[in-house]
Amino acid sequence: MDYPVRYDVIVVGGGHAGTEAALAAARAGSKTLLLTHNTDTVGVMSCNPAIGGIGKSHLVKEIDALGGAMARATDKAGIQFRTLNSRKGPAVRATRAQADRALYRAAIRQIVENQPNLDIFQAACDDLIVAGDGIGSTVQGVVTNTGMRIFATSVVLTTGTFLGGVIHIGMENHKGGRAGDPPSIALAERLRAMPFNVGRLKTGTPARIDRRSVDFSVMQEQPGDTPLPVMSFMGSVDEHPEQVSCYITHTNEQTHDVIRNNLDRSPMYAGVIEGVGPRYCPSIEDKVMRFADKDSHQVFVEPEGLTSNELYPNGISTSLPFDVQLQLIHSMRGFENAHITRPGYAIEYDFFDPRDLRHSLETKFIHNLYFAGQINGTTGYEEAGAQGLLAGVNAALRAQEKDIWVPRRDQSYIGVLVDDLITMGTKEPYRMFTSRAEYRLVLREDNADLRLTEIGRELGLVDDQRWAAFNAKRDAIEAESQRLKTSWVQPNTEAAKQLEALGEAAISHEYNLHDLLKRPKLTYADVAGLKGEPVDNPQVAEQVEIQAKYDGYIARQLEEIEQLRRYENTALPEDLDYEAIGGLSNEVKQKLNQVRPATLGVASRISGITPAAISQILIHLKKNK
Ligand code: FAD
Repeated sequence: MDYPVRYDVIVVGGGHAGTEAALAAARAGSKTLLLTHNTDTVGVMSCNPAIGGIGKSHLVKEIDALGGAMARATDKAGIQFRTLNSRKGPAVRATRAQADRALYRAAIRQIVENQPNLDIFQAACDDLIVAGDGIGSTVQGVVTNTGMRIFATSVVLTTGTFLGGVIHIGMENHKGGRAGDPPSIALAERLRAMPFNVGRLKTGTPARIDRRSVDFSVMQEQPGDTPLPVMSFMGSVDEHPEQVSCYITHTNEQTHDVIRNNLDRSPMYAGVIEGVGPRYCPSIEDKVMRFADKDSHQVFVEPEGLTSNELYPNGISTSLPFDVQLQLIHSMRGFENAHITRPGYAIEYDFFDPRDLRHSLETKFIHNLYFAGQINGTTGYEEAGAQGLLAGVNAALRAQEKDIWVPRRDQSYIGVLVDDLITMGTKEPYRMFTSRAEYRLVLREDNADLRLTEIGRELGLVDDQRWAAFNAKRDAIEAESQRLKTSWVQPNTEAAKQLEALGEAAISHEYNLHDLLKRPKLTYADVAGLKGEPVDNPQVAEQVEIQAKYDGYIARQLEEIEQLRRYENTALPEDLDYEAIGGLSNEVKQKLNQVRPATLGVASRISGITPAAISQILIHLKKNK
């Protein structure tokens, strides 16, 4: 049977990529269907209920600046907020929130259910409807597990860890998408029969523990930060639910002995798991073996929610058998009598080589088919959400026959993420770090809205309320910077004495407040009130301070970006014959042929493509104009 409605965009999967994709497509004006296994699991967090962290909160705030849901849901669900790297510069500062799992899911569901242009339908997608055969064919819709055909112009697949998913606990394994959910087998087989390059990855999660069986008195308490951070540019601390503490305990020699003595029962070390795991979120087995000289690792004991007794012991993800999990947990301080509510496990799943995608996240082989999230080899809710938003808006733009949007590396972490994936691919689950971005000082989490909200508005992603708030903020920053530049402190005045009280030397001539703010020890709060009234909006004050303090560095970075952009956007014809370009080594030609970069900038970032090779291509392009 055919579904009675035809859609512009169908998004398959109601995880973090899927919800942002569906919301973005709908906001951009396309009639959208979110098709997912189970409508009750929309917005479920498969692993730790935590959002943000270093590099990741940059993505969350960019999603937010483009009108997405993740940051808004975090503000409604966060039960412990922290600012990480608070003593370092603003480029690497990050916000992290421990969320209440149930509140987060409810917040996402509420946003999804109330989005105009968006329908939800519960079914498994087992197949794609494709016109034509193989490379160059066009997707036209999906087929559900009951054989129903649903037609659409664009389809976005965001199936997470579900494709060909296999769950491992010790030597036992079974098929599953994540604990308690079915895998996607039929769709995985269908995709494997298509011309995509497929690989296997794995990820894992720790056992969960009943808080009533834990002795917190021997652990170190870790309360949230004051003042309470906020995740969304539209959020406020008043939205946050009750705040609670996390705790810290440690593994010890006994824990490590338990692990070493049972490695033959670890599916990873016994060679049962072939997929590569996340380097930066390794299992406890991996940590003990890789860092053999360390006799202890930190374990963050994090609540799963305000109304749940379950705790997430962050740092001991494992696929060892249950009896070994019990021993290793009981070996830690405070966990001696811990009751495990759910065993830890590892999951192996199919992912597709993201080098087979365009920068819009459309597949190169099948027109109008987009992939986003863990299916592209990434790990993390934030990485998934960012790709989802991009794929969703581009699927909508395609359906409306409009130009696609490709975020640049110098403009956003979303741009860095997608460019890294598409040009370099990945052999292990990819996660975001600030070190992946070349222009960190410009791409701060605090200015994501100033970088992206205007673009989001043009794409139709930003509603009137956010747009009005953004404009008011931007105007206020401008006005306040101007006020500081034109407010002067003269020597031997009351304001000058206040400066001296702050530890500054007596001034010998007049200074404006903006120049005073550039001094390392002075903050906005110190100088803004020396003359006139400071602003009371902390977001505005923060921007004014950062822009003043890093003025010179930011200007230099913008200049570098401009220089690079001169050739960054030079288009490379799709049919460019790299064999015909003199001076390129065989290796370089092979890589260029494999990636087929759309621009010189993309070509320059392919590993092994040297500046000399870029000049050869430039010369060739000029000669053949
Ligand atoms: P998911 O959140 O997995 O969502 C996929 C959605 O698609 C689900 O709603 C599913 O029901 C639906 N779906 C799948 N197939 C179909 C189909 N055929 N038809 C209809 N619906 C379908 N991330 C970290 O950053 N660190 C970690 O340590 C970590 N550990 C993890 C451990 C485990 C065991 C798991 C399962 C995940 C872990 N993650 C971790 C990853 C994190 O959960 C994902 O990165 C994130 O959820 C990916 O989002 P997604 O939207 O791509 O997919």
